[in-house]
Amino acid sequence: MSSDRKGALVDSAVKHLWRHGVTAEETLRAEGPVAVSAQGVYIDDIDGRRYLDALSGGSAAATLGHGRDDVADAVSRQMRNMAWVSLRTFLNEPSIRLAERIAQIAPGDLTTSFFVSSGSEAVESATQIAKSYHKKRGNPSKTKFLYRKTSYHGTSLIGASASSSPEFREWFQPLAPGFIELDACYAYRRPAGMTVEEYGELCAQAIEDEILTQGPDTVAGILAEAIPAALVLTPPPNYLQRLREICNKYDILWIDDEVFIGVGRTGKYFGFEHYGVQPDIVTSSKGITGGYIPLGAAIASQRIMDVLLEGSQAKVAGHTYSAHPAACAAGLAVLDAIENEDLVQNADVLGSWMLDQFREFGERRPHVGDVRGKGMLMGIELVRDTKTREPFPAASGVGKKVVQTAMNQNFMCRASGDVITLFPALVSTRSEVEDMVTATMRAIDEVLNDLPK
Ligand code: PLP
Repeated sequence: MSSDRKGALVDSAVKHLWRHGVTAEETLRAEGPVAVSAQGVYIDDIDGRRYLDALSGGSAAATLGHGRDDVADAVSRQMRNMAWVSLRTFLNEPSIRLAERIAQIAPGDLTTSFFVSSGSEAVESATQIAKSYHKKRGNPSKTKFLYRKTSYHGTSLIGASASSSPEFREWFQPLAPGFIELDACYAYRRPAGMTVEEYGELCAQAIEDEILTQGPDTVAGILAEAIPAALVLTPPPNYLQRLREICNKYDILWIDDEVFIGVGRTGKYFGFEHYGVQPDIVTSSKGITGGYIPLGAAIASQRIMDVLLEGSQAKVAGHTYSAHPAACAAGLAVLDAIENEDLVQNADVLGSWMLDQFREFGERRPHVGDVRGKGMLMGIELVRDTKTREPFPAASGVGKKVVQTAMNQNFMCRASGDVITLFPALVSTRSEVEDMVTATMRAIDEVLNDLPK
């Protein structure tokens, strides 16, 4: 019965549904199970298999897990009461309350939210806010943005132009002009003999050098995640401080893209809080509604807003669904749950425990080069030689094999190259996290044991 239904769904998917995040070839093979229901951190497929999910739904959004009545009820109540009105014409209470709440949880003077419906839109809006800020200050030529290799900032033209994905570079040309790529600040791959602090300084200096090469009067901002999530690149302790100083020196805005890491994942509400610095604009999405309904936000500091709001016609282009009342109602319910259930603290405590487990595991294994993370964001870098840090040859596909092995054992983790990443829901319990750790270690061991000697 279920296999007939599955067959029909897969056939229909091949004909009518273009999946994102996979190649056209994979779309045609309709690979991947068909999910039919989920509860907490478990997802059930149509064949009756149950997957333990260390990826918050696959892309880090389902931070509260599945099946929450509180969020579903808040959305349903709002939809029944008033489905949608445009912010152009009416203010609506959920969006005002959510903006107010974000201003309360965000440290410093990050006071004002511009709501959209995705991370890509949040990033694009942030660049518009930055350009408007400079124009208003009499610097209309400050329009370029720096971004870093290995980063991902979305798939709109602006997001793609600030992302180093080779596929985007290949398929979406011409990309937007004025996006300048810097090297990633990848401490594990720093030059031999250099301390992490020296490397942090080197990376910061590279930003300053590029600003000077481009001309400071042409650069509007730098798009930089406090902790780049794809490879879990926890920064050297001095790096973001130096980035902040350089931005101040040249009047360049730091847009901290927290679409992936924000709203509790790292064991603080925002990732930048770990480093004692404040960005000018923070982007958020995913965790802000816990995957229940789409929402994104560009959160600007009062300093920026003071410039923009003073007697000006500055506008950020919104969307029909910007500040959708139902999405904002979900956001409020999610923030209530995070606060009432101490989920930021939970992410911190369980994340530290996970990090210890993986570090200990790494010490006993020949191919675990580095283990890094913050809260519920974990990266385990597998290498051919831990002494020289030499990676496995790309063709060996070690990371992919680990993910496939785990999936065959009903466990979801991800790989960026050979960096195995986990980003579990903030609601995960200690015993669920223990199972995730065990499953990850088992998959890594199986793949490493099978490598040609
Ligand atoms: N920025 C970062 C850091 C992301 O991780 C993502 C998505 O994964 C985006 C932007 C784009 O968000 P969305 O897929 O909601 O457009």
